Amino acid sequence: MSCRVLVVDDSAFMRVRLREILESSGATVVGEAANGIEGIKKFQELKPDLMLLDITMPDIDGLTVLKEVLQFDSQAKIIMVSALSQKSIIMEALQSGARDYIIKPLDLHKAKEVLSKV
Ligand SMILES: [Mg+2]
Repeated sequence: MSCRVLVVDDSAFMRVRLREILESSGATVVGEAANGIEGIKKFQELKPDLMLLDITMPDIDGLTVLKEVLQFDSQAKIIMVSALSQKSIIMEALQSGARDYIIKPLDLHKAKEVLSKV
């Protein structure tokens, strides 16, 4: 997989973990954002092939970011990153156009499986 990825998560720890998984899958992390506003801005600047998007963030949530980005680029490939307890939000994200989701805490094997599909 040779893919330019933007990672959006307010947790620095999660960004590091996601970067490790992406890079070990052969993807290139072209940018990171620690909040939703920055995530939207960086998506527009960098036009990545894929965005990994956290749901719970301090400014605007991932669901709102998802919808904004899809309005900007209806073909955007976005994978939600979320705790399992947010199942209803995950479902709403998938209905809104997210391609897939990765559950926290991260399972390396499952995360790689999702990435290779998208
Ligand atoms: Mg978060």
